[in-house]
Parts: sequence; structure tokens; C-alpha cells
Amino acid sequence: MTPARLSLLVVLAVVVSGCGSLSLTAMHNPLYRASAHTSTITARATDTDKGVAEVRIDVTVGDLTACGGSGLLPSLIPCRTNATTQARICTFANPKTPVDCALNLNLGDRRLVTYSTSARNGSGSSASTGAVTYAAGAPLTQVTVSTPFFTITLPWETARPVVWHTGSPSGSSAPADKIDVGFFPDDDITNYRTFTDSLQSVALGAFFSTANQFSKNYSVWTNVYNLWAGPTGADGNGCTHTFSGGAGTISAVTDGDVILHQNAFRDCADIALGGGGTTQTTLSDASWVFTHESGHFLHGLGDEYVGGGNSSVSDPPNIYNSQAACQTSATALSINTAFCTQIGTTGKWRMDDGNPTTMEDRVLTSDWRTASAIAIGRRMSKCASGACY
Ligand SMILES: [Zn+2]
Repeated sequence: MTPARLSLLVVLAVVVSGCGSLSLTAMHNPLYRASAHTSTITARATDTDKGVAEVRIDVTVGDLTACGGSGLLPSLIPCRTNATTQARICTFANPKTPVDCALNLNLGDRRLVTYSTSARNGSGSSASTGAVTYAAGAPLTQVTVSTPFFTITLPWETARPVVWHTGSPSGSSAPADKIDVGFFPDDDITNYRTFTDSLQSVALGAFFSTANQFSKNYSVWTNVYNLWAGPTGADGNGCTHTFSGGAGTISAVTDGDVILHQNAFRDCADIALGGGGTTQTTLSDASWVFTHESGHFLHGLGDEYVGGGNSSVSDPPNIYNSQAACQTSATALSINTAFCTQIGTTGKWRMDDGNPTTMEDRVLTSDWRTASAIAIGRRMSKCASGACY
């Protein structure tokens, strides 16, 4: 990873307090690796006015387990046992340029790490980031279940948190106020490390980068998205997405799921409020492709180009069956009715404001526009109210 890429990596929650000039971001690297490794947590603080006096990283590390789920079954969302805590405190002489504070962790198998960071500026104002939890090392493969009558060891896997916005990993189900995105290796990626490296590249470009217009929305709202890695068992081929075995079990607890693949086939996704899709990781714009496909499988948006899936289940729809329906919706949304344009000669209509839009234009300068932007904004509002779906 080049230094330039590393700087992309450190774009997360900015929490500002006091006079409003202290900013703080934090990230871990690698995002997820299913073998023993050194993990680096980096917090970056900036205050161009008062300077930065201190940056602190608080960490809890323990064993990743499954906790008691409903009935006898263990949970699919992990819990932690044998937790220990540590902190790193970096002090500075109030420099006004960005400062980094880093903590290295040597992580073995089945580890679950939570970190939060805080900073103080030269005049005593502070800022902090919300807790993030992630898994490391070889995954859980079995659990022992004890009852008053018997004890049994079962093969068992949990979802593996990559970026999980919680400080208390004890949920037996995924949280309703987050959009939980599962990443799964296609059967054409036989090396799991290749999969996790690809996951990191796609996720950083889609959720943690403001370098391109297409990823700014997800990166601003990054704290709404939990990212999970799944086990093998998924297979994507064109518009067919199969999740079997462990992949089937884990994909059932996430909101939407993407199969990462290497072999070339046209990427495709369910047009659904939570479904499945694919992304070819060897494409130079894989993060854009993922973002476009997620427009289908997370937000129910349709394709706005000829030859795509010209239907939508989003709120509001971004595809209409007539010019009149499009114009009625545009009026209700305070969008210029003159934007209503037929998609070729398909008889389907959309609102086109002339700017590149992610459901039509495969360019890094695209964005969610017109009805798509409103649909995603409404999804964020629902999350803020406690239930994304
Ligand atoms: Zn599409």
C-alpha cells in the first residue's frame, strides 16, 4: 500500500466540538484479514487554529465467539470474551498541521477488536470518534453448546465484522439503524486472502474516499454502513446470485450482499431493498461498479440507460412508466418537470438534470442525482429514525 493510498484510508468520522476547528478521523489497516497479522489503528487529528495537544486511542481486544442466540442456536453476529483493554496516548506541542497517533496490534486467530479515539486541542476542546469493531485472524468454525441435558460441538460460523459501528459486540442480530453490507468471495476466488485484499480495495474506494464524486455520499454517511465479510459458498454468474452453505446463513443476517469475483462477466444485482449483486474486483473502477450495483441491491434503484434493468422499487422511484408519471413525481419532489426524459425508446422515463448519475454514467464524476439522490436521502433519514428498512 502506497503512502498516497494510506491517506485515503484515514477518512472517517469527523466529530467537532468547541470552537469547531478540531477534526479527528480514525481507521484500522488492514480492514480484515483471516490470518494472524499486525493491525495498525491510526487516528489523525487536525486543528489549524489552536493546534493539537493530545490524541488518544482506546482499544479492547478479546476472543471472537458466538453468543447465545434464539433458542439453542448460537448467534451469527459475534460476541467477545476474555477482553482486555489498552490505550495509546500521543502528546504534541500544539502543531497546527495534521498529526497521527498509531497503535500496532499483533492479532492471532479469532480476535475481535474495538477501538475509539479522542483528541484535545491547544485550548482544551475535545473531539472523539465512535467505536468501531472488527474481526481478525482465522474465523470461528465451531461452537460448543451446553444445556442442562447435553453438551454438543457444532460446526458454526459467524459474520466477520470488517467495519462494525459498535462498542459492545454482543448483538444476536444485525442492528436495524445501520445498513449491513455483506461481502462474499465468488467461487472463482479460491484464495481467501485475495478476497479480503479485494474487499479492502473496493470498500476503501466506495465508503472511505472523497477523492471522487461517486463515493462522496457513502463516505459522508460512512457511519451508517456496517461492512461484513462472509465465508465461501457464494457464486455469481450474470444476474444469478447463489448463496449456499455458510454464505447462505450469513447473507441472511445482512441487509444486502455483494459477491466479489475475478472472472469477467457483466455485473448485475437484484433491484431490491436488500438483495444480492456482484462486482468484478479486477476492474480499475471496481469501487464505482460496486457503488452502482449497491444502488440496485441496497436502495432499489433502476438502471437509467438503455439495455439495463429499467424498473425501480426505490422511494421515490427513479424509473417511470410514462412521461406523465415522471412529471407528477418531479412536481412532488420539487424537481424540474422538463428533466423527465425517455430512456431511449423503451417507454420508460427518468429525470435527467444533465449531470453524470451513478445509475447511468460509468464515470468517477457521477453522483446520485434527482430522484436517486432523494431516495438515498430518505434511506438515511429512516436509519436516523432507527430502522433503515
Ligand atoms: Zn445496473
